[in-house]
Amino acid sequence: MTEMTETTELYQLTLTEAAAKLQSREISAQELTAACLDRLESTEPALQACLTVLADQALEDAALLDRAGPDPDQLLWGLPLTFKDIYCTKGVRTSAASRMLRRYIPSYDAEVVTRIKKAGAVVLAKTNLDEFAMGSTTEFSAFGPTRNPWNPAKVPGGSSGGAAASIAACQSPGALGTDTGGSIRQPAALCGCVGLKPTYGRVSRYGLIAYASSLDQPGPLARRVIDCARLLQVMAGPDDRDNTVSTRPVDDYLSARPAPLRGLRLGLPRELWESRLDEETSAILKAALKTLEEAGVELKTLSLPHLPHSVAAYYILATAEASTNLARYDGVRYGHRADDPQSLRDLYVASRSEALGPEVRRRILLGTFALSSGYYDAYFKKAAKVRRLIRDDFFRALEECDFLCSPVSPLTAWDFGKFTDDPLTAYQMDLMTLPVNLAGLPGLSLPAGLAPGGLPVGWQLIGRPFGERDLLGAGLALEEAFPPLT
Ligand code: GLN
Repeated sequence: MTEMTETTELYQLTLTEAAAKLQSREISAQELTAACLDRLESTEPALQACLTVLADQALEDAALLDRAGPDPDQLLWGLPLTFKDIYCTKGVRTSAASRMLRRYIPSYDAEVVTRIKKAGAVVLAKTNLDEFAMGSTTEFSAFGPTRNPWNPAKVPGGSSGGAAASIAACQSPGALGTDTGGSIRQPAALCGCVGLKPTYGRVSRYGLIAYASSLDQPGPLARRVIDCARLLQVMAGPDDRDNTVSTRPVDDYLSARPAPLRGLRLGLPRELWESRLDEETSAILKAALKTLEEAGVELKTLSLPHLPHSVAAYYILATAEASTNLARYDGVRYGHRADDPQSLRDLYVASRSEALGPEVRRRILLGTFALSSGYYDAYFKKAAKVRRLIRDDFFRALEECDFLCSPVSPLTAWDFGKFTDDPLTAYQMDLMTLPVNLAGLPGLSLPAGLAPGGLPVGWQLIGRPFGERDLLGAGLALEEAFPPLT
């Protein structure tokens, strides 16, 4: 009985707490992995956060680690972690939540997976997402949606909705997601956990299934800010197989300390705070800003005048890149192949129509249109120019303050189906997060409070390029003032 109680409590440890207990051998890797697997098994029927659970392999890996003993140089020694099912994992199906790749078993690990494994972590599961990371709810997963642990009638956000739900339900202490226009930060906010999108180029994209290559960035989700620091420490750094990764040395994120709130200068982009927030979100965030002000934070409302064009620019650029990246799924070398095609053209059309979902098809069509001759200048080129203006807005604003602060989502977690027939309104829900990707900046999403209806509300801090250490310091300070929800 005592043993049962102990095991049921292990899964609740934060990543940093668990790491310390593992290093001191107070707990073993096998105990923690078994506890997380039990928790996963009991919560998964309600959530459907995971597409593949590596139960046997994870226990075997944990046993091997225990036999060798903890290594203080391995920052993630013995920690069972999950990967969004868009990270290639050697020998383990990597589906991108698409019928196209439902039988795809990579022969190599993504760079981030290699690093996380080298740091001593155990791979527990691959988590659910919107097909090819296109969406904000996980409703576009070909394998069915994930449910929000706070209320199963609500979406968990997306596209890394499986990762966020899994973390909030304590299935594991840390998860790896990707963020192209908000896919780490928004589900973290809707599920009440912490998510970090690093600066574009801080983390290697090698071995990620590409959505929009100039925007995609891998990042961590966890229940505490310092847990994200630990994960980023392992993930970040140069990789010659991704030439967009910076060679800048990686800072010591683990030594980040809470920034003093007194005198901290936070810029509030008017265009985001004055856009339509639901009542609960608005009430929680306004009260939170007041608390910050009382603690001595200097709040300054600023204008980033081009932000209202960001959703339009993003959905042209992201779909254009997606249309090129997804051209490889033609039934010849990768993924699903239609039976009995009558011609080469028929093979392409049938394979793609059978295996790609409606949202992915919509985006390929949009992107192909934006890139087509005669429309390129009017759409793609113009959007690229708007992107530059948005970036300049951010850089100017960040000269007047230490960080920018905004809501993450205009709404708390919403009902399934709310926007499925209204893609334009759905895209507007990304207004708070996608400008940060267009500008290539780091963004940290963390809980600001729980709304009266029982759903989490998140907010976001936006930092300077490669300023993750400072950003984490500010996040730690906010976390002290607004206690974690899970
Ligand atoms: N919701 C946005 C989109 O659908 C962002 C997705 C993401 O960050 N992967 O493009």
